[in-house]
Order: sequence, then C-alpha cells, then structure tokens
Amino acid sequence: MGIGITHLGSGSRGNATIVSSGNCNVLVDCGFSLKQTEKRLSIAGFEAESIDSIVITHHHKDHSGSALRAAKKWGSNLYCNMGTAKKMGWDLEEECKMFGNLERVQFSSELSMLPVPVPHDDADNVALIASDGSGDRAAIVTDLGEAPQDLIKHLSGCKHISIEANYDHQRLVSGPYPDSLKRRITGRGGHLSNRQAGDILLEVLHEDLESIVLCHLSEKNNAPHLAESEVLMAIGDEFTGNISISKQLGPEFSYWTGQSEPTNIAVA
Ligand SMILES: [Zn+2]
Ligand SMILES: [Zn+2]
Repeated sequence: MGIGITHLGSGSRGNATIVSSGNCNVLVDCGFSLKQTEKRLSIAGFEAESIDSIVITHHHKDHSGSALRAAKKWGSNLYCNMGTAKKMGWDLEEECKMFGNLERVQFSSELSMLPVPVPHDDADNVALIASDGSGDRAAIVTDLGEAPQDLIKHLSGCKHISIEANYDHQRLVSGPYPDSLKRRITGRGGHLSNRQAGDILLEVLHEDLESIVLCHLSEKNNAPHLAESEVLMAIGDEFTGNISISKQLGPEFSYWTGQSEPTNIAVA
C-alpha cells in the first residue's frame, strides 16, 4: 500500500500532517485549533476518529496546540518524547505515551516511525521517518537549524521527503526582524533556509526519491516561488520526481509512495 502524506497546512501559525498506511492513520503534529484540525481532516477525507495516534515533534505551540484535546476527544494515542512531555506538562501515565529518540514507534504492522533528534531552540525536537515495513520510507523534517549527519543517513533512501524551507536568506537579512531574532533563525537551533533545504536534498538525492514537499515557509521572509526555485537549482536535473509547497492553509494534495504525482484535494 505504501505511505500517504497529506499536509493539513504548514507554517508558524500551525502544522499538522496525516501519515497513512491506508489502514492506520497517524497525525504528525497538531498545531491548529481543534475546530480547524477537524475541518481540515474532513476536507482531506478523514474522519477525526480514524486518527489512531497523534505524534508531537516538539512542544512549540504551532506543533502541539490542540494535541491533548484532540487525543482525548478522538480516543487517539498521544506520543511524544520526554523533553516534549515535560515542557507540555503532560502526564506520562494518563495523557501520553513516551518514545525515546531513535526508538521506533510501531503503530500497526504496516506503519512505524523513527524519531531522529534535530537541533531546534530550547526544544527536544525530532524529525520523523515513517516506514511501511516493506521498504517504503517517507520523512517529515521541520524546525531545525541544521541537519546532523545522523538525519542525513536516515533521509537517504526515503521515497518522499517533506522538509522545511523556512526562509530566503536575502529576504531575512534585509527584512524587518531585529538582529537578535535574525541570528536565532539562522543559528544552529533555528530554521532551515531554502538554500540549506536544497543542500540537504542534494546530499540525499537518489533515483527513487519520488516527491518533495517544502513546508514551514515563513510568510515574511520567504515566498513559494523563491523556495521552489532555490531548491530546484540545488538539486538540478537529477531529480525527476515532483515538488510541491505546503502552505499555511491546506490541505491541497496528498502524496503516496509509489506515485510521483500528487492527488489533488478539492476544496468544497
Ligand atoms: Zn514550527
Ligand atoms: Zn519550533
């Protein structure tokens, strides 16, 4: 069956992505309001109660916002690591299940995820590498200032990669943010620029990489055409798959491993 990836929307005002094996649906991050999340799930064709588990990458509100309420209302399992549980104040026995970094979380016989730690501010953030158990892997990577070698290793061989392309360097440097904030964003614990995303993709590029989604674009310091052109410039003609942008307002499309073309989602 493979792995399906549907971004419900992505950016500093909220992130949530459905990762599906067909039989098992996992929501990676739950950073929109509960009402918005349910509305977007329904647009994507998913019943909220069909979400088996919710996995939170880190405690920042744009990733964790309505996670606990959603898990309780839908009867879903809530997963995060120790650092995130502490920051959120979640009860490890009553409210969430804990995973260790680099410890695979098995949701069903056909869907598991490996959490790989990435540097980001004061957060214990993880990238997630989903696997269907028969060779297909798909990655979701946001909120990191640089990619550790360990992550590069895990991204190699993924058929789908959703990766943050947060800012255009020139726009950030000449933009309105105070210098301290500019330094934080460009630092090791900040966010990836379009250029950094392109360089990482170039490093892990292989002939079975079918699809790329650029996500978590800054509305002030980036634009979809800048992100797409800089990444395509970096990876060049060697990439023969499809590239899309997940904007703040979604969902707009799904990608399934085994297919390079996205399935568009009609908004009523
Ligand atoms: Zn974020
Ligand atoms: Zn963050």
